[in-house]
Amino acid sequence: MATRYACPMAGGATPMMQQYLSLKGEAGDCLLFYRMGDFFELFFEDARVAAGVLDIALTSRGEHDGQPVPMCGVPVHSAESYLARLIKAGCRVAIAEQVETPEEAKARAKREGLPSSKVLVARDIVRFVTAGTLTEEALLEPRRANMLAAVCELRGSVGIAACDISTGRMELEECAPDALPAALARIGASELVAPEGWPAAPDAIPRPASDFASDDGAARLKAIHGTSTLDGFGSFTRAMLAAAAGLVAYLDHAGRGTLPFLLPPVARASDAALAMDEATRTSLEILTAQDGGRAGSLAAAVDRCSTGAGARLLAEDLSAPLRDRAAIEQRLALVAFLHDDPILRADLREVLRALPDIGRALGRIVAGRGSPRDLGQVRDGLVEARRVRDFLQASDERPALLDRLLPDMGGHGALTDLLGRALVPSPPTERQGGGYIAAGYDAALDELRDVSGNARRAIAALEGRYREETDTPSLKIKHNGVLGYFIEVPAKHGDKLMAADSGFTHRQTMANAVRFNSLKLHEEASRISEAGGRALAAEEAHFEELVEAVVTARQAIAATAAALARLDVGAGQAERAAEGGWARPEIAEARCLEIEGGRHPVVEAALAKSGERFVANDCTLGETDRLWLIGGPNMGGKSTFLRQNALIVLLAQAGGYVPASRAKIGLVDRLFSRVGASDNLARGRSTFMVEMVETAAILSQATEDSFVILDEVGRGTSTYDGLALAWAVVEAVHETNRARCLFATHYHELSRLAETCDSLSLHHVRAREWKGELVLLHELAEGPADRSYGLAVAKLAGVPQPVVKRAKSVLDKLEKGRAETGGLAAGLGELPLFAAAAEAEEEECDLLREKLSATDVDALSPREALELLYELKREAGTG
Ligand code: ADP
Repeated sequence: MATRYACPMAGGATPMMQQYLSLKGEAGDCLLFYRMGDFFELFFEDARVAAGVLDIALTSRGEHDGQPVPMCGVPVHSAESYLARLIKAGCRVAIAEQVETPEEAKARAKREGLPSSKVLVARDIVRFVTAGTLTEEALLEPRRANMLAAVCELRGSVGIAACDISTGRMELEECAPDALPAALARIGASELVAPEGWPAAPDAIPRPASDFASDDGAARLKAIHGTSTLDGFGSFTRAMLAAAAGLVAYLDHAGRGTLPFLLPPVARASDAALAMDEATRTSLEILTAQDGGRAGSLAAAVDRCSTGAGARLLAEDLSAPLRDRAAIEQRLALVAFLHDDPILRADLREVLRALPDIGRALGRIVAGRGSPRDLGQVRDGLVEARRVRDFLQASDERPALLDRLLPDMGGHGALTDLLGRALVPSPPTERQGGGYIAAGYDAALDELRDVSGNARRAIAALEGRYREETDTPSLKIKHNGVLGYFIEVPAKHGDKLMAADSGFTHRQTMANAVRFNSLKLHEEASRISEAGGRALAAEEAHFEELVEAVVTARQAIAATAAALARLDVGAGQAERAAEGGWARPEIAEARCLEIEGGRHPVVEAALAKSGERFVANDCTLGETDRLWLIGGPNMGGKSTFLRQNALIVLLAQAGGYVPASRAKIGLVDRLFSRVGASDNLARGRSTFMVEMVETAAILSQATEDSFVILDEVGRGTSTYDGLALAWAVVEAVHETNRARCLFATHYHELSRLAETCDSLSLHHVRAREWKGELVLLHELAEGPADRSYGLAVAKLAGVPQPVVKRAKSVLDKLEKGRAETGGLAAGLGELPLFAAAAEAEEEECDLLREKLSATDVDALSPREALELLYELKREAGTG
């Protein structure tokens, strides 16, 4: 990297501005944090952007081209929190540090024969901080992976390289160009890079196309892992390697030549996971709810993990459920093992809760950004891992997956021993002050510490001696950052010590005190500072050794972290299942979906908060009954039922228990979820267009092994169009795709499809009118919906009574018209206008009111009262 010196010769801009502009040129579209003493300063447009995002004052400094230069700044010591906010707001930041001291700059000026006033401290961009290249604990969310992805196209195939540099995980994948959006939706990268000008990823950060060369990719990966071939890691296509090249080049650029932690790449087969496109993920709210937050998502409803690493792995599981029955069964067996032994589970979860995030601590250490605290976390984590292994090893009938995990948790004996001896119990985050190497680890260091200790005691003794010798009880030996150690006496005693033969040398006269030095004090102080400096250097050297030891063992430590995370997911799933009375699903090869007492985990949890009960429902799809058409009133629970079944499939294939009393699930290859347009008004495109594009995708991709839920498809257009489309879509799914499907609709007319589609059956969510009020039972029943409850729902929702009444009379006429002439609108001609009808009604009410107020209730005989009631009822038109 080229260090930036200011060039004092060029005219116009000040040397500082020249240096700044040169660095800014390198920073490109990243905000430039320009280090000036204790601050990072931002200038020009960067200052405007940052001041806006951070809500800090925008000032100005000097002029450039005759204009004041906008400026804002953040203190270095709290830069991290400002960085966090900028990154969250989608900014990227280049950090320009001072890379020489002012003394070094002066010396350089002298060498180069320049006046020292003209020389600036050299600065350089030491790092780019971007959403995908974070390792700092404070900038990362503990329960979310932080992915960076690179994509490119090579001879018609798309290569994808993704990594989480906070833990080193790296995956390579190849897919067809049209599968890219779904793959990216699964990865959920916080930053994406692609070759400049590649149209398939318009939102990606453009990088030079030459960065994406497959040969470079292979060479870089081999170099990183010190191997002569990649065969040991898996087989990688050229497209994968080209993407890997782009990814590593970007990491190199962001870290200015220092690569972060990368584990050996894993090749992901594109058909290994249950396929879900972006629309399905969004509609099922897997990791985030519709509002973008985690609350209300499936992940939040399921996650009972004790560690951040467990929660991250669970999110990964839920994003990419499996399709391999054996692999699913292995995970399920682990969950079952921990589910069936509550005591073991409770003990295990308690140990896990205390576990530090060793994966991320390791990531920082390998990236060269580790602290003594990170070393301490690795130590504690490894020690705990061994405890976990020991007590799990003692249990019988361990499932196969657990037996595979256990060896990864042990080992590290020498390393834990080393870290245990070398570090103090809670090492600090900062290295500068030292104090993290334990006493007893290094005799020379202990001695240096003794020296300073002795000297400190000697200084304390000196204070007593000088008090006596000078007969000044108020004499004190003090220390400050500027003078170091000094002797201080009140001003009135100053003269005594000023005497030429006193042995004291004058240093400073204050308003009411005088400060001195002495040879002896100077000696002792030097011993302290010298020993202190050497002790710091010794600690620093030990730090490097310890880092080296951890770096050498990085793969084994990462394996331990991964094993603990998998164990935590199992324990969390078991805990969740126990808490909710969930069942272990039976995974079948047949194309069935048999769910008894199924529930929606998110809706159930929401209802429970308000003390309401969720009504469990069954679902039985099979070869001969593949498609359920579900009718019934709005708010009756159709969407909930559809989604709960999709979520149960997803949870089962992710290897967890499911919210049902029994579930038998035939493996699903692709899961589709679509919601009719009117629920999705927030989207930019014409909603109906979106609905149709998404429906088209299902019709072209769903297979006999797929599971499709379609919620009110066709609703986004006028009645007849919508009905016709819904009709055709149901037929196509039934006849052509032959996927298992739940189709919710309010079109009664679709019931007729049961006559022609033999694997289709009719169902409805039950509702009842009770004392004129609609009661939604949220209960599924066989058969078509008996009638529409639209008006009752409107009433329930608080639509004003006159409007509901009016709608009722419009409906009556419509239905009468249809019955008589077959034409829907035929009856409407005779309807009075709304205002006229409402007025007539109002008049009627007035008459009733008048009559009532004229009645003296006390004067009525029982018989008269009864007659009056009949009369009123007649007049109100309800008798
Ligand atoms: P629809 O799709 O028929 O309009 P929803 O599925 O959106 O109805 O459900 C509407 C509301 O009814 C939900 O928000 C929930 O509060 C409640 N609900 C749905 N299903 C159930 C159920 N099985 N048990 C209890 N309440 C339910």
